[in-house]
Amino acid sequence: MSLTELSAMTKHNFNAGPSILPRTVFEQAAAAVLDYNHTGLSILETGHRTAAFTEIMEEARALVKELMGLDEDHEVLFLHGGASTQFMQVPMNLLDNKECAAYADTGVWSGKAIKEAKLFGNVEVVCSSKDRNYAYIPKDFAVPNDAKYLHITTNNTIYGTQWKQIPHTSNVLVADMSSDILSRRLKFNQFGLIYAGVQKNIGPAGTTLVVVNPRILGKVKRALPTMMDYRNHIREGSMLNTPPVFAVYVCLLNLRWLKQMGGVDAMEKLNAEKAAMLYAEIDRNPLFQGQVDQADRSQMNVCFVAKDPAHEQPFLDHCREYGITGIKGHRLSGGFRASLYNALSLSSVEVLTEAMRSFEEKMM
Ligand SMILES: *Cc1c(COP(=O)(O)O)cnc(C)c1O
Repeated sequence: MSLTELSAMTKHNFNAGPSILPRTVFEQAAAAVLDYNHTGLSILETGHRTAAFTEIMEEARALVKELMGLDEDHEVLFLHGGASTQFMQVPMNLLDNKECAAYADTGVWSGKAIKEAKLFGNVEVVCSSKDRNYAYIPKDFAVPNDAKYLHITTNNTIYGTQWKQIPHTSNVLVADMSSDILSRRLKFNQFGLIYAGVQKNIGPAGTTLVVVNPRILGKVKRALPTMMDYRNHIREGSMLNTPPVFAVYVCLLNLRWLKQMGGVDAMEKLNAEKAAMLYAEIDRNPLFQGQVDQADRSQMNVCFVAKDPAHEQPFLDHCREYGITGIKGHRLSGGFRASLYNALSLSSVEVLTEAMRSFEEKMM
């Protein structure tokens, strides 16, 4: 197949992030770059203090509240800096120097969160799956009563594990949900703080969703830089400074799409179906195998390897002929990773499993 033929064909995008969004979102976003809502202005040149944009921000925040079923106690913010900035902003706001916070160590991203938290107080790593290269979610562990909060990473994007049960704890719960937010039903109100870089399941890169219960704020003694204090962002309706206007707008388009599709309930059903189909083929196909414990398999990031490492590159080449893109594994875990975020259709998973079957025929 020639390169032009390849680029013309339908793509099945399994990228881990930034990742696939619905086609209709791209079309509406593209139109708004040229003329936002018949204003004669591009969304890119629209001021954030205009009525046009404040409406976008308000609707986006309200839709997050609605889709997550949040109660009146929870505030929704769109911030800058990615989930990685939350690794420091969370302990800066919640943890005093001599206090302790509990962290679950389930992969690269939790490791980074732990490293940052240590700058602000004592960190107790209450469980870790490092002993088996993060191939499972720890089950039995205790959280000290005096821990200010327990931090978990609900879905481990790189290793492909996911917390199926959110741990029971009387401590404040904090979660990095970057790679599975809005993909399944959870009792979101049980969390004191949730954060997510939006580029996996909500929108394009450039903004970070934070959901926070203000009652857990304002308790640390340290002086907080203005931009780091969540309370300032809450007070200003997430417009303390110029927000990432375009990123928030594209999030809004995707949130509207999500609602139209039936919300989180519908996504959970579709995501379960997609993951079951792909894992079934991994388990059936003699050329491949999964990398993590079955019970803890992620429905968002499906990690697997070729049993014979010599098959790895030929399979990636084979996938290109099907328009499959973005399935090369993370450099730390190797093999393959297929990310099945909300916008990825069941038919794309069918194409991937078909490619796995035809690869088996080719190799046997
Ligand atoms: C991608 C990812 C991050 C990093 O997000 P940035 O927005 O790039 O900082 C953090 N945590 C998890 C679970 C991720 O998947």
